[in-house]
Parts: sequence; structure tokens; C-alpha cells
Amino acid sequence: MCATPIGNLQDITLRALETLKNVNLIAAEDTRHTHKLLNHFAIKTPLTSYHQHNEKSKAAELIAYLKADNDVALVSDAGMPGISDPGEVLVREAILAGIEVDVIPGPSAFTSGLVLSGLPCTPFYFAGFMPTSEKARKDALNKLKDVVATQIFYEAPHRLQKFLQDVLATRGDIELVIARELTKLHQEIIRGRVSAVLQRLAEVPARGELVVFLSAPVTEVPSVPSSWGEEITGLLQAGLEQKAAFKVLAEKYQVPKREIYNAFIKEKDKKTTGC
Ligand code: SAM
Repeated sequence: MCATPIGNLQDITLRALETLKNVNLIAAEDTRHTHKLLNHFAIKTPLTSYHQHNEKSKAAELIAYLKADNDVALVSDAGMPGISDPGEVLVREAILAGIEVDVIPGPSAFTSGLVLSGLPCTPFYFAGFMPTSEKARKDALNKLKDVVATQIFYEAPHRLQKFLQDVLATRGDIELVIARELTKLHQEIIRGRVSAVLQRLAEVPARGELVVFLSAPVTEVPSVPSSWGEEITGLLQAGLEQKAAFKVLAEKYQVPKREIYNAFIKEKDKKTTGC
């Protein structure tokens, strides 16, 4: 299991170079992609493809090859194979077949982003990619409500806004960090509350590769605010419907929705009538 850079080619390790040079075969997620990496370092080892669509059948082939006293390095397009990338099937099969498995450690997008995030690194929960359907994504986010840890998600830039809207609807306006284009020219770390980040993304959509870090769910119930206006307005401005905004606050403060609604209407009336 051989890690490769997540952007900056200088992040390849000496052991990775030595391993990629000396093995009999490199199994790669995308052989064209890895070919570029090998060319850069003048490595001529043969490549074979190993991706999510041939993971099971190819694992059997690679195991037979390994049993014939060959060494194989598995790489993915970026970072650590097996982390939201093909790898774990081959490792399991190799262990079952009594073949020695080793790792050449190196970069991974989520560990690199986590240490830059400023959020607690311990404990953390790595969720990887979320489902693409809204219902399944919201269900998954709801299930993680009790996981008191910094929560880490891989997300595609074109799905980021939808993902954050679901975070807002299920978790409220929590603190989050986005680590974008790590180790690359346009590396950027975005920090803030969900509503503020959503507003910013509406003006400048995020591009490139990114990791999202959500602050840990808070277990203590905060004291009820003296006025609801500011929080409700913030949630509405971030794109939540009124009903969803009351639901988020009801859960956060453990107060019935109706109570918040009545207090909010009273506040509004007071503003308009002045008494
Ligand atoms: N195996 C990789 C690892 O160890 O991080 C992850 C592979 S996964 C298919 C690709 C996802 O990782 C991207 O969609 C993005 O969420 C994240 N990612 C990869 N490179 C990144 C980078 N340079 N900056 C930020 N996120 C990155």
C-alpha cells in the first residue's frame, strides 16, 4: 500500500520512490494518471489497472501473481490507497492468502486538512463521501449527530452547497472548516459558520478538491436566548425554510417549536407596533 502525493509531487517519500522502482508491478487506480507520476521520477515499472469496477476480480489475479513470488505496489490517484479509494479488498484478500502486506506511509487529504483546521484532532470521525441523494445524505448526517468528534467528509465542489444546506438543516449553524486544494498552488482554508460559508459560496463557488470538517456536535443544551430574531434571520438568509429553521432551533435549545414560533411572532409584533 503505497501513498502518493495529493497535489505537490515533492511530497513523494524516498521509500515510495524506492518501492515503486523495485516492485515487479504497480497496480494503479488510473494507469494514465500514475504514468505521469512515474515519468516525472523516471520510473519504468510496468503498470496494471486496479479500480473500483474491477476491484474484486482483479484482486484474485493480483493475489495469484503475488503468490508466484512477485511484489506489487498498490497506488491510487492521490494520497493513501484504501482511504475512499480502492485498496481494502486487496489487503483483506492478501491477508487471507497469507501474503505479507506492508505500507509506505505518506499524504492523505483528510489528515493534512485536519491538522490545519484548528478543530480538535482527537477524537475525529472520518465519514468519507456522503450519499448523493438528499434524503440519504440527511439520514447519514442525522445518524452522526451523536458522534462527539470532529467529523470529516470528502465532497465534490459541485455538491458542496447542497451538502452544507443539509448540514444547516440537520445540525444548525455550526462551525466548520473547508480545506481546499491542499499542497497545491491555490490551497485555501475556509473557516466559519455554515450560514456565513454558504453566503460566501453563493458569491464565489468553491473549485478543486476539498475536505469538509464539521465541529463536534455539542452535547450540552445552551441556555435559551432572550431574543430569537437574530438566529432565525441567519438561518433563513442561509437558505433554510422557516419550518426547518424552527426545527433546528427547537433541537438546539430543547424547546418546543411552537414556543419558539410564538416568541418570535411576539418579538416581530413588538418591533412593528413598538410596544
Ligand atoms: N486516497 C485519498 C486520500 O488519501 O486522501 C482520497 C481519495 S478520494 C477519491 C478524493 C477526495 O479526496 C477528493 O474528492 C477530496 O475530497 C479529497 N482530496 C484529494 N486531494 C485533495 C487535496 N489536494 N485537497 C483537498 N482535498 C483533497
